[in-house]
Amino acid sequence: MLRRFRSASALLAALLVLSLTGCWGSRDPSEAPVRVTSPAGDLFANGACISLRPTRGDRHLTVFVDPGHGGPDPGTSGTTRDGRTVFEKGATLAVGLDLASMLRADGFRVVLSRTRDTAVARLGPSDVVGGALTLDAAHRDVVARVECANASGAELLLSIHFNAFDDPSVGGTETFYDEARPFAADNQRFAELVQREVVAAMARGGWNTPDRGIAPDTSIEAPQLSARAAAYPHLLELGPAQAGWLDTPSKMPGVLCEPLFLSDPFEADIAASRAGQQALAGAFARAIDNYFAGRGRATPTSTPTG
Ligand SMILES: [Zn+2]
Repeated sequence: MLRRFRSASALLAALLVLSLTGCWGSRDPSEAPVRVTSPAGDLFANGACISLRPTRGDRHLTVFVDPGHGGPDPGTSGTTRDGRTVFEKGATLAVGLDLASMLRADGFRVVLSRTRDTAVARLGPSDVVGGALTLDAAHRDVVARVECANASGAELLLSIHFNAFDDPSVGGTETFYDEARPFAADNQRFAELVQREVVAAMARGGWNTPDRGIAPDTSIEAPQLSARAAAYPHLLELGPAQAGWLDTPSKMPGVLCEPLFLSDPFEADIAASRAGQQALAGAFARAIDNYFAGRGRATPTSTPTG
C-alpha cells in the first residue's frame, strides 16, 4: 500500500500536529471549499473540491487537478517488485498534491477535486454496496468532478489516473483528449505537451518506460458497465453533453493522463515512490506552464482589416 508517511517518527509528528489542530485536514488559511449552489444541496464530500491560492505571485489563472478515484473507489491496483500493493487512488492523490504545491509556487490558483482519501461526490449509505461504489454513485462521482471544475472557473483541467492490463509486461504512458469539443485543438495541444513531458521525465529519472502516445477519448477500450455508459463513447470528464447522462460538460480544455501501468511491477515501483510521484508532478507542472505559454500563439482566426 502506498504510504504518505515515510517513518514512524514522521507519523508521530503528524499525529501531534493533527491533535493540536483537532482536525484531519489542513488549516492552511489559503484553502477554501469551492462554493457550488445546487438544488441538490451540498454536492461534495468533506475535503473535496478545494480551492488553493497561489503561494508565490499570482498569474490569475486557475488549474483544475483531479486525482482519479478515492474513498470506496480504489481504482486499479498493482504490486511492486518487493510485494507492496499500490492502489491507484493513493498514487493519483500523491501526485495531485505534489502538483498542486508546484503550481501554487508558480503563481497558479489550483482547485483539487479531492485532498484526501474520499470520493468527490458526497455519498450516502446506499451508494456503497459490498464495499464498492454502485454504478450510479460511480457515475455521480465523476459528474461531481465536472461540476467542481466548472464551478472553479478553471482555464485548464488535468485528470490523473494509472493504467492496468492483464499482461504485466505491458506498460507506458498515454494521454487522452476529446475531439468533439469546441476547444478540441487546445485539448490536443495540451495532450501532446503532457505526453512529451511525462515521457521525458521518466527518461530523466532513469526509468525506461514506453511512449504509447496520445489518443482521442473515444478510442479507449474499457469494459462498459452499463448500457447507458456504453451509449456514451467519450470520457465523462472530457466529453460533450448528453441529456440525462452528462447535462453540463466540462467547460475548459483538458486531458486525462495515465502515466504508468500499476499492473507492471516495475512501473508500480515508480508510481509508489516519492521520486516517481514528484517526477510525474513536475512533468505535469511543466506541461501546464508550456500550455499557457503557448496559448494565443496559434494561427489567428481573423486578419486586421484596417
Ligand atoms: Zn483510473
